[in-house]
Amino acid sequence: MRITSGEGYHGFVEELIKISKKWRDVWERTNVYESDPDPSRPKYFLTAAFMYPNGVAHVGHARTYLIPDILARYKRAQGFNVLFPMGFHYTGTPILTTAERIASGDMDYVEALSRSYNIPVDVLLKLTDPLRLARYFHELSKEAMKDYGLSIDWRREFTTVDPEFKSFIRWQFTKLKEKGLLVKGSHPVGWCPKHNMPVGMHDTKDDVEPEIGELTIIKFFDSEGLIYPAATLRPETVLGVTNMWINPDLDYCVSVVSEGGRMERWVLSCEAAEKLAFQKDVKVVERVKGSVFVGRDVTNPITGEEVPVIGATFVSPKFGTGVVMSVPAHAPYDYAALRDYLGGRPVDEWGRLRPVRLIQIEGYGKYPAAEVVERLGVRSQDDKDLLDRATKEVYKAEHDRGVMVRGLSERVVKEVIPGAKTFIKDIVEGRGVNEVRERIKEFLVSNGYGSLMYEIMNAPVFCRCGTEIVVKVVKDQWFIDYGNEEWKEKARAALASMRIVPEEARKQFLATIEWLREKACARSRGLGTELPWAKGWIIESLSDSTIYMAFYTVIHRIREFGIRPEALTTEFWNYVMLGEGDPEDLGGRLGIDPKHLEELRKEFDYWYPLDSRHSGKDLIPNHLTFFIFNHAAIFPEGKWPRQIVANGWVLLKGEKMSKSKGNVRTLRGLIDSFSPDAVRLAIATEAEVEGDLNLDLGKMGRVYDRLRKIMETVRRLSRAGGDADGLPEKWLRTRIARHILLASEELDRVRIRAASVRLFYLVPQDIDEYLSMVEEPSKTVREAVEYWLKALSIVTPFTAEELWHEIGKETLIVSERWPSTETLKQLIDEEIELSMEYVFRVIEDIRSIRKVVEGEEVVIYVAPKETHSVLPEIRRIIEEGGTVGDVIKHLISSGFVEKRRAPKTAKTLLDLVMSMDPHIVDSLEAVGGIDERNALLQLRKYIERKAGVKVKAVYYATDEEAPDLGGKKAQALPWRPSIYIL
Ligand SMILES: [Zn+2]
Repeated sequence: MRITSGEGYHGFVEELIKISKKWRDVWERTNVYESDPDPSRPKYFLTAAFMYPNGVAHVGHARTYLIPDILARYKRAQGFNVLFPMGFHYTGTPILTTAERIASGDMDYVEALSRSYNIPVDVLLKLTDPLRLARYFHELSKEAMKDYGLSIDWRREFTTVDPEFKSFIRWQFTKLKEKGLLVKGSHPVGWCPKHNMPVGMHDTKDDVEPEIGELTIIKFFDSEGLIYPAATLRPETVLGVTNMWINPDLDYCVSVVSEGGRMERWVLSCEAAEKLAFQKDVKVVERVKGSVFVGRDVTNPITGEEVPVIGATFVSPKFGTGVVMSVPAHAPYDYAALRDYLGGRPVDEWGRLRPVRLIQIEGYGKYPAAEVVERLGVRSQDDKDLLDRATKEVYKAEHDRGVMVRGLSERVVKEVIPGAKTFIKDIVEGRGVNEVRERIKEFLVSNGYGSLMYEIMNAPVFCRCGTEIVVKVVKDQWFIDYGNEEWKEKARAALASMRIVPEEARKQFLATIEWLREKACARSRGLGTELPWAKGWIIESLSDSTIYMAFYTVIHRIREFGIRPEALTTEFWNYVMLGEGDPEDLGGRLGIDPKHLEELRKEFDYWYPLDSRHSGKDLIPNHLTFFIFNHAAIFPEGKWPRQIVANGWVLLKGEKMSKSKGNVRTLRGLIDSFSPDAVRLAIATEAEVEGDLNLDLGKMGRVYDRLRKIMETVRRLSRAGGDADGLPEKWLRTRIARHILLASEELDRVRIRAASVRLFYLVPQDIDEYLSMVEEPSKTVREAVEYWLKALSIVTPFTAEELWHEIGKETLIVSERWPSTETLKQLIDEEIELSMEYVFRVIEDIRSIRKVVEGEEVVIYVAPKETHSVLPEIRRIIEEGGTVGDVIKHLISSGFVEKRRAPKTAKTLLDLVMSMDPHIVDSLEAVGGIDERNALLQLRKYIERKAGVKVKAVYYATDEEAPDLGGKKAQALPWRPSIYIL
């Protein structure tokens, strides 16, 4: 789709695009982004999730690839040998599905694609072969990435259907199998009933990963032997069941279920019967209304108690079995529904339905569920939002801190399961809820009174075909065993050793490691690598993309050495990736020059581990966690990845991009309409890495204005003819150096927005300030401006390169180093920076006072330099956790102020310290304060011009000779002068 660049900017955008084409070609010709091992330099290896070319690169890629590109450019400028490669992921079914739909002649679809991607219909109609289609979108996307200015080493590009890559994946899976991490068996998977195939995130609408949860079914039974299978996440609460819930208005299906060879008759909601048929052998025999069961008595299989079946409307047919056990002491829904049923009578009058206390938790009374329900003001069982909140709270508190109370074995009135009483006494009483839960589940299941079922916990999740996904227990499938506890432990260790950006996402990784279980890793259709020992089973896309970053390190050399794919055996990869075996011996057998083998090993060893992995935050619960697991399994600890950066979405006018909304923005469309640098700058400054980015293409005018201003500023200052080297020049050099130092700190923490805003907005502000102080700009700031230009080049490389050459440089700015920290620190004059910072505040103060008090002249009273140390002192008190009270105490005890005025002074100074840039307080501490009077007098003219007043006099507040106008003298505080207007 073509978007217009906006009124009045046409010529400028054309200029930007022309500049970008020119430098793209130069960089390509000079191979500036190709990196080879260089042991004399530190290396930095970063990758972004490779592209899936079932369409063209779009605005989401524009963001996910820009973040590592900016970091790559920054690291290069810091002297690192940086590798940033890219590949293309052909694996799986989406490419196949797209090609099939085109081949089927679905013209609505083809026309929609044509509009979204701006590709002619007749070209699309030729893309009926999946590989041809992938190759076509791949090449278009690659060209767009180059035009966008991504600093990629394209020699290492590959696709996941290349024979070399397939050999690498076969090696990976052979390794997993050797380690016992690949298992064959029956396991629950997300499943599309229409496609009859397992589905993962890449197969679902909106790319949602179906999360599979396990429920325990507890088999209550009635006198006719009919089973009421209550599904629960909390099997330990079976000891406190007062009744069963069934929804009287729903249809129930009495079904014959085969359980370990026994045929049982189960009462299930009809939806549940349909779902369970994917997991168990279920045959529906009779369909009846739920009301039929209401009023019957059923037996608790563990306590032997008989409890009534009661009707309740909160019971959903969709979750679990449609049969719910009621535990009012510990489940808010049950308490609320019983309270409804008993007309709000107090708990003491509930008779046989009275809650049974099972769990004690600190901070809660006898019946935690009742307590929370009453506290939140839940009105009835239909108060869903409040009840969900209550459930979460109770569930978490009991799981984390709950302990099973003593005396529970007394609840067994009849041993349905022999030994139940002893089991409860020895295994349950007095133990943590967390520990007991599993034991009770096992006890019930092994005695035939319990069973398992699986649910999509984040339901509803839909397949791309529109069908709702269910959980199916698949037999004889190959699974990666992410449920393996030892492996989980390794993954946790790997995670603990990594930096996660944003740090808050670590929780989500930990939770994913926790809940991940066996994952189906092969499909019966799609592109990709066949499992070496299972013909016809193709390794699916989330399983062949976990350690491919290692493949980038060697693929270009494998091709360069002309090594045939047949020679890329398990032994070959064992040597290259793990250093196992002898190159002489191996080379002889594989027909590879041993020197080549050694070079490959060296190349891998130089670049690995991966320093930073980049992807969208939606990949945390699958790809990024699998990435951690597989590295932990295959590679030694020293080769585990060091960092993950997970970025937020891109929204277009607040909406997620999707073909169905017709708001697809391709990378090509963006850069052709707005120019690469404008798109880069807009994305870099709009949101911090983890936040969602709302791209409003109607407001690109602001970005052009910014770029134009920066270009003009650089041009003007680089032509500066003056040779003054006074306070303004020293100050500007200080500020530019300061900003670059702070931007480096921000980039080290992957605060890309903060650094970009600083370089593109704050530096120009200071330059404007400088220009307003001088008659003409001076040559003595040129060097600092060049440093700034280098810093700008990491975000807008094309315009920076153009300007660099305009000012007469012959090197390439994209290969330039930033000035060292030492060099920058030498440019900084802290006293001048402090004085200016102080003067800016005074000007602001005068301006705001003049809004309320008229007058043309001011007299200013200032605190002496010695008092400045109080500011860093106050900061230290607050940093150490002190309060305003502590500040007051400090002011009094140090004799800074008399007791009466201490509270007000403390508050003023505290506000002041909080409003100051931390580095300004640092400087104050380092230089021990400034002479405020001197600063004001030195910049008197400047202040007068800026504030529009005459500065009549400046006095030290301690000067006894000075007149005390308006009683202002005593009010002067450090950094907060007292101003009198005449
Ligand atoms: Zn489907």
